[in-house]
Amino acid sequence: PPRVRFCPSPTGNPHVGLVRTALFNWAFARHNQGTMVFRIEDTDAARDSEESYDQLLDSLRWLGLDWDEGPGVGGPHGPYRQSQRMDLYRDIAGKLLAGGYAYPCYCTVTELDERREAARAAGRPSGYDGHCRDLPGERKAAYEREGREPVIRFRMPDEPITFTDLVRGELTFTPDNVPDYGIVRANGAPLYTLVNPVDDALMDITHVLRGEDLLSSTPRQIALYGALIELGVAHRIPAFGHLPYVMGEGNKKLSKRDPQSSLNLYRERGFLPEGLLNYLSLLGWSFSADQDVFSVAEMVGRFDIADVNANPARFDLKKAEAINADHIRRLDVKAFAEACEPWLRAPHANWEPEDFDRSAWEAVAPYAQTRLTVLSDITANVDFLFRKEPAEDEASWQKAMKEGSGALLRTARGTLAAADWASPEALKEAVLAAGEEHGLKLGKAQAPVRVAVTGRTVGLPLFESLQILGREKSLARIDAALE
Ligand code: GLU
Repeated sequence: PPRVRFCPSPTGNPHVGLVRTALFNWAFARHNQGTMVFRIEDTDAARDSEESYDQLLDSLRWLGLDWDEGPGVGGPHGPYRQSQRMDLYRDIAGKLLAGGYAYPCYCTVTELDERREAARAAGRPSGYDGHCRDLPGERKAAYEREGREPVIRFRMPDEPITFTDLVRGELTFTPDNVPDYGIVRANGAPLYTLVNPVDDALMDITHVLRGEDLLSSTPRQIALYGALIELGVAHRIPAFGHLPYVMGEGNKKLSKRDPQSSLNLYRERGFLPEGLLNYLSLLGWSFSADQDVFSVAEMVGRFDIADVNANPARFDLKKAEAINADHIRRLDVKAFAEACEPWLRAPHANWEPEDFDRSAWEAVAPYAQTRLTVLSDITANVDFLFRKEPAEDEASWQKAMKEGSGALLRTARGTLAAADWASPEALKEAVLAAGEEHGLKLGKAQAPVRVAVTGRTVGLPLFESLQILGREKSLARIDAALE
C-alpha cells in the first residue's frame, strides 16, 4: 500500500494551495488504503514559528484530514519534526561526502555571482559551473587556510534524468538545466534539498504529490535518491506527481500573500470543512462531467491521481461559495443549528449575548438554512429575533417606507392584532387583507411590515419570522414604526 506525505514548513498562515496538496495526498492515501504521513519541515529557524505549527495541526483537524503518522500520533519513523532530526542529516551528509556523491564547495557568493554574470554574457548556462567538483587536495587545503567555510554540494550525474510524472507524463531534464546544488550550508545547516528526500527515503514514502512549483527540484532529488540507494539509506525512488498551479485574480498565480488564499478567512466566514474540501478538490481534479457537489467520502471513493489535470486551475470564489451553500443545505437541520452556534454565541455587534434565545433559534433555523452561503451570514439573518430593537438600516427604510406606507401599516397593525398567531398562513391573510384595503398586492403590502419588524427589506420568510418573534414584540415594533 502507498505511503504519502504532507510536509509543510510552519511559516505564516495556512493557505489554500497547502490545503489542496494535503487533500490530494490524503484522498490518495484513503482511496488506496495507504498511509498518510504528516511531517513538519522546520529547518529554517529564521522563518518557522510555533504559532504556525499549531495552526497547521489545528487546520488539518478542523478539515478532518487525519494522518496516520506524525505529530500527536507518533509512528515508527519519528520524530516527525525535522528540527528534531538534525543528527540524521549530519550523518547522511557525511556519508555522501565520504562516498564522493557530494563535495565541499569553497566558492564565495561574490565569485559565484561574477562567474554567473560572465556565463550569461557569453550565452552559456548560468548555473553552478562545477568549479569545486574535482578540486585537488592542495587547493582545498589552501582554501581552508584562507578560512573559507565550504558548503556541501551534491554532484549531479552527467546524463539527462527522465521520469514519469503521475500528472504530466514523461519528463526529461538535461544536465545543463540541473547543475550541482547545495545540500548543507557553510554553517552546517542542512537544506530542504537534502532533508526532504532523506526523510522521504527514511519514511519509506512511495508517492510524492506536491505543487508544480517544486517540479524543478525533482531531478535533483531523483539523483540524490540514486546515491541514497547505493548507500543503503533508500530502498526505492518514489513516484512523483506535480499538482497544477492555482491561478487567482487577473490570471496570476495565487500567492500566499493574497488575502483570498488564507485558509483562516474561509474558516472565519463559516465555510463548512466539507464545502471547502469539495471546492478545493476541483482545483485540478474533477468528480464527474456533470456533478461538482459531492461529499468528502464520495471524493475519496473516486480519487485517482491519473485524473488530475496538468493545466493551471482557476480559483473562483463565487463557485466556492455556491458549493458551500449546497453543503449547508445538505446538513440535517440539527447539525446546521449546531454549526451556526459559534457565530450566534460569539460576541458581535448584532445583539447582546444574553438576549440569545435557543428555542427561537431552533424554530427559525430551518428557514435560515436554505438561504445561507456562509455560516457567518447567520447573525444578520436572525438578529431581528434577539435584538431589543430592529436593526437600523437606513437604505431599507427608505426603500420600503413610501407615501401611504404609514396608512398601510396602521391597517396591518389592526388586521394582525386580530389574527391567529399560531399560524403563519393567518398572518399572511391579515397582511393581504390590509393590502387590499389600500389597493396593494402582497409584495408591496408586506415590505413596510418587514422593515418595521426586522429592520431590513430582505430576510427570512416574513410570516414565519413574525410568528417566531411573537405577537407582542411584532406589534410593538409596528407601533414604534408608526410613531
Ligand atoms: N516543506 C516543503 C514546502 O512546504 C515541502 C515540499 C515538498 O512537498 O517536497 O514547500
